[in-house]
Amino acid sequence: MPPVLVREPEAFRQACDRARSLGSRVGFVPTMGALHDGHLALVREARSRAGFAAVSIFVNPAQFGPGEDLGRYPRDLPGDLAKLDGADLVFAPAAAAMYPVGDETRVRVGALAEPLCGPFRPGHFEGVATVVTKLLVLAGPCVAVFGQKDYQQLAVIRRVVTDLFLPVEVVGHSIIREADGLAMSSRNAYLSPSERERALGLSRGLAAAARLFEAGQRDAKALREAVLAEVLPRATSIDYVEIVHPESLVRWRDGERTGDRVVLAIACRVGGTRLIDNRVVG
Ligand code: AMP
Repeated sequence: MPPVLVREPEAFRQACDRARSLGSRVGFVPTMGALHDGHLALVREARSRAGFAAVSIFVNPAQFGPGEDLGRYPRDLPGDLAKLDGADLVFAPAAAAMYPVGDETRVRVGALAEPLCGPFRPGHFEGVATVVTKLLVLAGPCVAVFGQKDYQQLAVIRRVVTDLFLPVEVVGHSIIREADGLAMSSRNAYLSPSERERALGLSRGLAAAARLFEAGQRDAKALREAVLAEVLPRATSIDYVEIVHPESLVRWRDGERTGDRVVLAIACRVGGTRLIDNRVVG
């Protein structure tokens, strides 16, 4: 059965309230739509942990900076609804419903929003934290599922949920990849065939560094260089290649010895498309 579609925040709140009053646990997956198998894996995960699965589809203007791709971000609500057979409820609000006239409150996370994508996307994590807080308050889910594809986002959301005492279990889902290793992303649709080929540099670089790490390499510079060897020849520009602590996101600098569990993280542009990927190793 296709999911029920609601557009208004109050209708979303009421539908989740109703599910709870009928005895279901509510599982929630926030998305920006243009759904792919990565999103659908999150929905299955939510479904496996809760009787009632709610999905939001909202291209959140607050998390896009000036000059980013808000205007051309792929949107396909009918296609998304057809893919969401396993979900019970879809919330697809208008921007004016989420940020009505007079809206002024923002959720800002400190240190976790500063490294990695922070300097390259000013205001991005504030936009994410704000919209996710609004959505969690509306849905009141027992469990909310997020992808490790957006590793820093997941860390920021865990912090928000802890700091604001939101009564929800946050579950991180592993990254779903194409058969050749490319991390699935709605933005992959922007890639031309040759850019799609070059985009493999990200997953290959991370895999090469992961192999070194698993063979005992703990030199941060050597690990970064292993990623860069695959990415530099293929990327148009590189925002960062970093080795960071899995919880604090504090980086190990060149010359330092890393811990025994790290996140290898990259953000770069291939053509005009900004891509991110990461691997947790150790
Ligand atoms: P987005 O629609 O890009 O905002 O993503 C919505 C949710 O899906 C976020 O929690 C993402 O981390 C997650 N997600 C996106 N791509 C993937 C992927 N390839 N594997 C796992 N989760 C993903």
